[in-house]
Amino acid sequence: MAEAKKRALITGITGQDGGHLAELLNEKGYEIFGIIRGQHNPKREATESEFPYVTLIEADLTDASSLVRAMQLAKPDEVYNLGAISHVGYSFKDPMLTSDVTGKGVLNMLEAIRLTDTENKVRFYQASTSEMYGGLEYNRPKNGYTEEATFHPRSPYGVAKLYGYWITRNYRESYNMFAVSGILFNHEGDRRGIEFVTRKITNAVARIKLGLQDHVELGDLWPKRDWGYAGDYVEGMWRMLQQDVPKDYVLATGETHSIEEFLDTAFKHVGIDDWKPYVKQNPAFMRPAEVDVLLGDPTKAEKELGWKRKVDFPGLVKLMVDHDLAIESTKL
Ligand code: NAP
Repeated sequence: MAEAKKRALITGITGQDGGHLAELLNEKGYEIFGIIRGQHNPKREATESEFPYVTLIEADLTDASSLVRAMQLAKPDEVYNLGAISHVGYSFKDPMLTSDVTGKGVLNMLEAIRLTDTENKVRFYQASTSEMYGGLEYNRPKNGYTEEATFHPRSPYGVAKLYGYWITRNYRESYNMFAVSGILFNHEGDRRGIEFVTRKITNAVARIKLGLQDHVELGDLWPKRDWGYAGDYVEGMWRMLQQDVPKDYVLATGETHSIEEFLDTAFKHVGIDDWKPYVKQNPAFMRPAEVDVLLGDPTKAEKELGWKRKVDFPGLVKLMVDHDLAIESTKL
């Protein structure tokens, strides 16, 4: 008899990682359910047409009863909690909503699992983040943050995510649930939202090259991030849920680059050697507290999960600029 298909429930299906993960799980033969929020989500039609194999379920991370219903409908083997208010800058503007969705939403999802999964079989992935570390000099290990490093979040987003991290760990320890956190460093790609700095840059570079705009306004250019490709990172999420023992893992590239380096690589890719005339700094995009340097140490994931990023920094920037060139050139 053929084995029954594994079932996965994804929150944040309309986001960057949700899209990559849906593609990956579909290739692996999963039956996939995705949580979509709102009475009429403007992304619904595009999501239905891009992922016809995903069954959408209306629910919201702030509404625990809707998550219980989603669990009853999907009956998943694996739950990937990717839904969040995920933009660090925005979290300063709407800190309470960030706390409700990005923080308490994790508890709502865990409770929905605990109340419906009577055999304690469901495996849970929590999308934790390098923003929990904070990047300050005092807690920055020379070779990058490991799973054991000290946390010092510097935004309402980072603080809410730290709650999500600890409540996931607490449910693992209290109820013996297979509940893990992937502590993921920044990952980008062609699905990245336009509000995030990397995509804002690659989109502007494409438009400047095509003569559709003459400059881009950004906040601070000195912060450094460990940037990888989202397509590589969802593979790591999946691997975490296939282990015998539930553990938390850092996924990172082990390299860090400043926003200036990102600009330089992106502009050079379209043949512009000096990016400075095209970039204006605007204090409106600066944050009340900034994270200086993020660098991750993925040694544990490489050893235990056999995971390694494939796309390097120049490859990532080129992939994103080329994607934006293709989209923007249709507007000429
Ligand atoms: P994203 O593109 O911003 O997607 C966020 C998703 O969350 C969207 O599908 C959004 O739905 C959904 N969402 C927002 N509020 C919700 C609510 N109240 N109930 C249910 N869903 C809600 O984020 P991403 O880049 O894919 O990241 C996925 C996860 O990984 C997030 O939790 C993020 O914080 C975390 N993370 C990301 C990175 C990174 O570099 N990308 C690094 C570390 C951790 P709508 O479309 O309806 O708004």
